[in-house]
Amino acid sequence: MDSKVKHYLQHFGISEATQRFLTKPQKMFIGGAWVEASDGASAEVVEPYTEGVLTRIPMATRADLERAVQAARAQFDGGAWRRLKPLERERLLHRLADLIELNAAELAELESIDTGKSVVQAREVDIQGTIDTFRYFAGWASKIHGRTAEPSLPGNYLAYTRKEPVGVVGVIVPWNFPLQTLSWKLGAALACGCTLVVKPAELTSLSALRFAELVQEAGIPDGVVNIVTGRGSVVGEAMSTHPGIDKLSFTGSTPVGCTVGKAAMDQMKRLTLELGGKSPVLVLADADVAAAARAVANGAFFNSGQVCDAGTRAYVHRSIYDQFLRELVDYTRTLKLAPGLDPDCFIGPLVSRQQQERVLDYIEIGRREGAELYYGGQPAEGPGYFVEPTVFVNCRNDMRIVREEIFGPVLVTAPFDDEEQAVALANDSPFGLAAALYSNDLGRVHRLIPLLQAGTVYVNAHSTIDPSMPFGGYKQSGYGKDLGAEQLDYLLETKAVWITLP
Ligand code: NAP
Ligand code: MG
Repeated sequence: MDSKVKHYLQHFGISEATQRFLTKPQKMFIGGAWVEASDGASAEVVEPYTEGVLTRIPMATRADLERAVQAARAQFDGGAWRRLKPLERERLLHRLADLIELNAAELAELESIDTGKSVVQAREVDIQGTIDTFRYFAGWASKIHGRTAEPSLPGNYLAYTRKEPVGVVGVIVPWNFPLQTLSWKLGAALACGCTLVVKPAELTSLSALRFAELVQEAGIPDGVVNIVTGRGSVVGEAMSTHPGIDKLSFTGSTPVGCTVGKAAMDQMKRLTLELGGKSPVLVLADADVAAAARAVANGAFFNSGQVCDAGTRAYVHRSIYDQFLRELVDYTRTLKLAPGLDPDCFIGPLVSRQQQERVLDYIEIGRREGAELYYGGQPAEGPGYFVEPTVFVNCRNDMRIVREEIFGPVLVTAPFDDEEQAVALANDSPFGLAAALYSNDLGRVHRLIPLLQAGTVYVNAHSTIDPSMPFGGYKQSGYGKDLGAEQLDYLLETKAVWITLP
């Protein structure tokens, strides 16, 4: 560990448990064993505030992935896991949730140090969301069943359906909510009786490796959950084409999701794709302007804007546009840029130098396209991959900063004159992950909800996410749903059984 990273961790008094975890050699978890990459390869993990090296993680080979698939297959095709009764799976999932809860402070520290995000938000959002997700799906394990039908066909039959787990699930996730996104994939899959091969993002694999220790401690049989760290272009690609994986559950960008989806289709793998977004926000003339401005800023700048459903395009009724912008900036000034371990941090550094450069490039593109920079737009002084929260005004829908996902703290805004125009602007996008409305006029709100092309519509808030509600995109934002009872449909096959009776 670099001395500057060590100093940073000491300065904020990080726990002994986290220190212990960070100073030991990191290994992957395959078939219940802790292993290095078969060729010994590893990669540096860079801490985003100090820009120093934190530790190293193994870079798996295709042979390592092969072993992980075999371990998951063996459990699925006839291991102890498949013989467990539903209530036993339920109990194991609750034990796992208990262990995550017991180690929540450490997991939040790890997530903050690895991603750059606020440790307070990591505890309240990422880790709490992870615990809640495992608890929610634990309850489902014992409530999955088919139905009995009443056929009209002449004759005498018993006709019923069985719900069967889809098999070995390959999970590929990004770096913005590393453990929470894993919980979305794993909670439901384990409840259904599937087994898993998981590839965390190369930039943020640490919480997944700590989580693997808890999987083992909970007593989940070896080989049910396998964590393989490595490159998307090696491990992710091999997962997309591996015949031993029955279903792929991918969260990430739309271009990579497209590649993964095409490879999956070649083998008719089952598929869930949670992809990018550029979610519109409509602030109607009757809205509580100050409250809407605060909520819009939170929805755009939370997690430094590295949120798939961030509300990054705000369309505001012309009669309140100026007031809205003033309130927005007054509030945004109060959001503190700081290292993630600082308890007052709201906006931490972005995850990597590359992401910081990408966001700053987009800000420059916006300027060149003629968008007016109203607030922010700079990297912060000193170390760390910070970008100030940034607001552009009077944007047009043909600008790249309006059409493309930036994945940083950049909000583009424009005024509108009537509802019809507002809906047209909101829907004029290749993405359809979420949309938000700010208004207290129930009639208007209910008229607009069905018109918005988005998988989620938030009213007078943003990113209210809970395991009880499905999450997933329309259009190029994805395919299938995570969370809610809806997710189970994507992890179960339905078998129709006909028994001819005498
Ligand atoms: P990304 O580049 O698409 O990477 C996502 C994952 O795919 C990573 O684990 C990556 O591995 C892996 N990968 C890369 N190339 C691959 C390939 N050829 N085959 C298989 N896997 C491959 O996305 P990101 O930049 O990490 O994350 C940001 C994106 O995720 C944004 O577009 C955001 O909107 C989206 N996202 C969507 C949701 C949602 O629920 N809809 C939630 C969060 C994020 P490496 O780590 O090695 O690159
Ligand atoms: Mg990192």
